[in-house]
Amino acid sequence: MDIKPIETWGSKTNKPFIISGPCSAETEDQLLDTCKQIKQLGINVMRAGVWKPRTRPNSFEGIGTEALQWIESVKKELNVEFAIEVANPQHVEEALKHNIDILWIGARSTVNPFTVQDIADSLKGVDIPVLIKNPINPDLALWQGAIERVAGAGIERIGAIHRGFSSFQQSKFRNEPMWQLPIELKRLMPQIPLIGDPSHIAGERDLIYDLSQKMLDLNYDGLMIETHRDPNQAWSDAKQQVSPQQLKDIIQILNTRIPNTDDE
Ligand code: PEP
Ligand code: MN
Repeated sequence: MDIKPIETWGSKTNKPFIISGPCSAETEDQLLDTCKQIKQLGINVMRAGVWKPRTRPNSFEGIGTEALQWIESVKKELNVEFAIEVANPQHVEEALKHNIDILWIGARSTVNPFTVQDIADSLKGVDIPVLIKNPINPDLALWQGAIERVAGAGIERIGAIHRGFSSFQQSKFRNEPMWQLPIELKRLMPQIPLIGDPSHIAGERDLIYDLSQKMLDLNYDGLMIETHRDPNQAWSDAKQQVSPQQLKDIIQILNTRIPNTDDE
């Protein structure tokens, strides 16, 4: 596998590589306003869900293609990059048409080798970073297999996202972190950058700082944190999204705790 380290992905991929933005694009104003506030924190890569894989029907399933136009105008206005989830080749085609910078494969797609292969096939000859979330079930081989399928399509900028695993047990987490799985993935595939998604592990905004700190302590290469200008009013994942001010506080504390190698 020919994989490029995250620092070489582009001008906006410093380490730790921070991606932030709303769970879902809801309105043009919500997207622009949220991203503007995130950009002010020095973060240059945004996220937003366009097509939402909801567990049960009759909830908000994303704006769809129209949101891609909003993303394009936010990109121009703020000079930022954008990452979105793609779940099939049509999504890939639409995303590429609208100049999306980074794609990710969601946890419900990573479980299905047919889906992953279809997405990988649609990426042949395309040079774009692709992030692969862990499957919702704790199956390391499925996660590895998805990475291998995308690498097999010739993608060289590949990262893994740790977003936790479904569990039937009661837990303070929405998705169990099961730290041994991402750590083992890192051992088996050391060249694949690992990005933590504390938001989907937590399910609850108050847990996000501690999870982020732990991920950086474990030498993760980056974090994806869901941020909304008014989290309680969010159309999806309201409890786990942080406000731009909370994101600022989290990043500030994380920065002050990154060990300074100049210290005695
Ligand atoms: C998301 O990032 O909003 C999302 C739906 O993620 P996951 O695939 O991890 O559930
Ligand atoms: Mn979400």
